[in-house]
Amino acid sequence: MKGLMMEQPLLVASLLMHAQRHHADQEIVSRRVEGDLHRYRFADLAARSRRMANALGGLGLRPGDRVGTLAWNGYRHMELYFAASGSGAVLHTINPRLHIDQLAYIVEHADDRVICFDLSFLPIVEALAARLSGPRLFVAMCDPDHMPAAIPPGMSMLCYEALIDANGDDYAWPLLDENTASSLCYTSGTTGNPKGVLYSHRSTVLHTYAAALPDALNCSARDSILPVVPMFHVNAWGLPYIACMVGAKLVFPGPALDGKSLHELIEAEQVTLSAGVPTVWQGLLAHVAEHGRRFTSMRRTVIGGAPCPTAMAVQFQEHHQVEVLHAWGMTELSPVGTVCSFKSHQLSMPADARYALQAKQGRAVFGIDMKIVDAEGKDLPWDGEAAGNLLVRGPWVSRTYFRDEASEPLEDGWFPTGDVARIDRDGFMQITDRSKDVIKSGGEWISSIDLENVACLHPGVASAACIAARHPKWDERPLLLIVRKPGSGLAKDELLAFFDSKVAKWWKPDDVVFVDGFPLGATGKVLKNKLREQFQHHYAPAMTQASPPG
Ligand code: AMP
Repeated sequence: MKGLMMEQPLLVASLLMHAQRHHADQEIVSRRVEGDLHRYRFADLAARSRRMANALGGLGLRPGDRVGTLAWNGYRHMELYFAASGSGAVLHTINPRLHIDQLAYIVEHADDRVICFDLSFLPIVEALAARLSGPRLFVAMCDPDHMPAAIPPGMSMLCYEALIDANGDDYAWPLLDENTASSLCYTSGTTGNPKGVLYSHRSTVLHTYAAALPDALNCSARDSILPVVPMFHVNAWGLPYIACMVGAKLVFPGPALDGKSLHELIEAEQVTLSAGVPTVWQGLLAHVAEHGRRFTSMRRTVIGGAPCPTAMAVQFQEHHQVEVLHAWGMTELSPVGTVCSFKSHQLSMPADARYALQAKQGRAVFGIDMKIVDAEGKDLPWDGEAAGNLLVRGPWVSRTYFRDEASEPLEDGWFPTGDVARIDRDGFMQITDRSKDVIKSGGEWISSIDLENVACLHPGVASAACIAARHPKWDERPLLLIVRKPGSGLAKDELLAFFDSKVAKWWKPDDVVFVDGFPLGATGKVLKNKLREQFQHHYAPAMTQASPPG
């Protein structure tokens, strides 16, 4: 028997319509590329998103067409979130930190019809335009006075504000099937080209419900939320959608992510909740400590994308009374999977036990099933001891990749995360290692295999292994281990210079260690875990670990 409930599709535009109706006066404050602070209200966001939806239609965009963005966190980017997805197109947020070769690959692969960009990315856009096979339409996210003086010949560029002005706000969001694609985000794999994760309206709205809950990111209409995590990295962990759902104030930092700028913004806009990777918080905490500053409004901070060091949790909680929410997720998970929030019996634990718990990535939010398995795929117990491959499934977990639908990443219906973890009796998951061969530096991926391939092109190199070594600022940095060809006098500087222009600058290994050979497994594979054990402290011999109080 079928239930008798209405069949209302879960749509991204409905989040905006809700915010417009119930939180019209709630503010959105953005630090702009132009340097000033811009502020307006949800009612303005809704009206301008409708204008932009009309503009996109006027540019000939059809349902399913991709709209690329190369932009910081700001109100125009948020308008595109709704104008593109809400009108049936697909919002494609592009990570500007990638190497130009990868950017060109991504734009071609996604087949972006229009690319909207912040002015600070003009040099990237120009380099990109020169590499693309066909002409694309670029939209500079500025007003006519700030349009670039000279546009390279053959490049079509429009002005965002001129498009807004030229279009009315009379627009009815279409009633789409909830399984329609809404947005697209590429993630760098272990090797080869980045892969596109294609979210749907349904997955996005369900993720929004779950991520907003009190034991997840804990958001409400009384919050002023600062997403430092970029809107080009898994939709800023869903916070723009969450703010619409709950009616929270949004504060966007634009390009100013240094400690001083963030602290000023947090205080000026009375931010209560912020979210970002540990590297960003290092900068903020260092600034605050150096200048004797306090947080007068901030109550919670979400730390994810990389493990939250205990020293950081101690500093936030003991010195600033800012509660830390350690979270784990992935691009393929929209991204929230687990959040480390206490159960009531854990509140009375001694401080050191609570800090040990907070070092874990936390328990699954409703909607995410997880399990750990051994090398044969057999379930491992949740005893806090056994560690195995972490698998997940749920309505906001990707099944396959965009334009690579034949690839079958799932194992028996479960998505293999590439993380190795243990799970305790209370369901708290802790990542202990990574089976995927990648390095996460400042929240962004570096492929070890790509770096090894470059190294092996050098005539003096016999074999190469690149590993993630712990780093006090970037969390991890690449360390290159090299076996030289017999008789080769290859020196470190020469090999490092060999990487110039072959990879993005921040991908270049920080150091090279010459070794006689690598530990090998039974099948002849280099045992990276052994190398990681041996060299993980190469950049940070004594990681500053403040001991928890008590
Ligand atoms: P991304 O798809 O770029 O968001 O990266 C997801 C990956 O980042 C995960 O599979 C983990 O390897 C890593 N990651 C994310 N959050 C955490 C965390 N809190 N602790 C440790 N690793 C994390």
